[in-house]
Amino acid sequence: MMAAGQQPAHPAPKIGFVSLGCPKALVDSERILTQLKVEGYQVVGGYREADLVVVNTCGFIEAAQQESLQAIGEALAENGKVIVTGCLGKRAALIREHHPEVLAITGPHDYEAVMQAVHAQLPPPARNPYLDLIPESGIKLTPRHYAYLKISEGCNHHCSFCIIPKLRGRLASRPVGEVLGEAERLVRDGVRELLVVAQDTSAYGVDMGYTGSEWRGKQYRTQLTDLCSALGELGVWVRLHYVYPYPHVSEVIPLMAAGKLLAYLDIPLQHASPRILKAMRRPAAGEKALQRIHEWRRICPDLTIRSTFIVGFPGETEQDFAELLAFIREAQLDRVGCFVYSPVQGAEANRLQDWVPAELAEERRRIFMHTQAEISAARLRRFVGRELEVLVDSVTQEGAVARSFADAPEIDGVVRVQHSRPLRPGQVIRARITGSDQHDLAAVT
Ligand code: SF4
Repeated sequence: MMAAGQQPAHPAPKIGFVSLGCPKALVDSERILTQLKVEGYQVVGGYREADLVVVNTCGFIEAAQQESLQAIGEALAENGKVIVTGCLGKRAALIREHHPEVLAITGPHDYEAVMQAVHAQLPPPARNPYLDLIPESGIKLTPRHYAYLKISEGCNHHCSFCIIPKLRGRLASRPVGEVLGEAERLVRDGVRELLVVAQDTSAYGVDMGYTGSEWRGKQYRTQLTDLCSALGELGVWVRLHYVYPYPHVSEVIPLMAAGKLLAYLDIPLQHASPRILKAMRRPAAGEKALQRIHEWRRICPDLTIRSTFIVGFPGETEQDFAELLAFIREAQLDRVGCFVYSPVQGAEANRLQDWVPAELAEERRRIFMHTQAEISAARLRRFVGRELEVLVDSVTQEGAVARSFADAPEIDGVVRVQHSRPLRPGQVIRARITGSDQHDLAAVT
């Protein structure tokens, strides 16, 4: 029975959400989901039960574009009311050509436009402030104990194989105070690991002239080293992604050696031949990557380095490829991904000459991965017999799946822990490493 003065409850409009793409797109999805929840919408898992579906797309490479177009098609077929956002949203004509019936298209990190499009279709329900269960830090798509912290949008570089600057615009850093405020809220909300992401993390603050602000009674610049030393005060794991080997990156290595940041760097190097790096127009291509890596490991011997490489880039000769193999043998990187070059519509590299035949490029990828597999396995063996701090991601009947400082979620390996006492996700424990292979470690506690 309804109490006097109470309004009849209107069911909250239901929104379906599809999130594609990289961790940066995931952060966009989290922001939109947070806003939807804050405004009282209900986020549902199935297309059929939703009143409307938002698709956050990826437009990075051809395969991702196809996947996005397919996801839009599926949502239209199953539900009929679809709003498109994200990187592919910048290519509205392409989307309309395939799917003229989509209701609205917005670009990446345009949260307001997405919300306006949602409002136009489904006005927000009246809110009851006492029933809002939204956590202060927002809704996260990642497990509760880790979160991506996006410090800037866009990129000032012009890598010839990439159209992200065209899609996402020039570098726009978030002021250091704002980033630290968000990090604090996430930690208060139970996050144990912060993954710092940007298109170019090393360039953080360049666009703002590094202007800073006060946080916890101390002045910090909007700059990578300052941000890292402040994040190091939060008492949680802090992991850096998408860092280029510029000289100032050396300033964060002592923070790793001191245990303030995880001894982990994700540096997308893409190649080692100076000729190919020049053709790729890579940032920090002139920097001596090998020299820097040796210098960093002198300061922090346990530093784990992850990188990605492209083989079969137009013009890549046997000599270039040999230089790349020599580089990975010498650099002894820990975690490595390798992709065969694939053209992206609108990228400058499409105009380059001397394309590498597909079978040869694939053969190079195979040789590269075979060489790296031995290096990765040897790098992991050094942990056997040691005790490491690990963060538990999940617990099953077979044991716990955890990660050490050397494992970023989703992209690196795991530590499989046999345990005698109960464990729960999000717990940080010490475990003794008993075995290793090319990707993963085994441990007991
Ligand atoms: S650094 Fe290069 S690859 Fe990365 S987003 Fe910028 S242009 Fe693209």
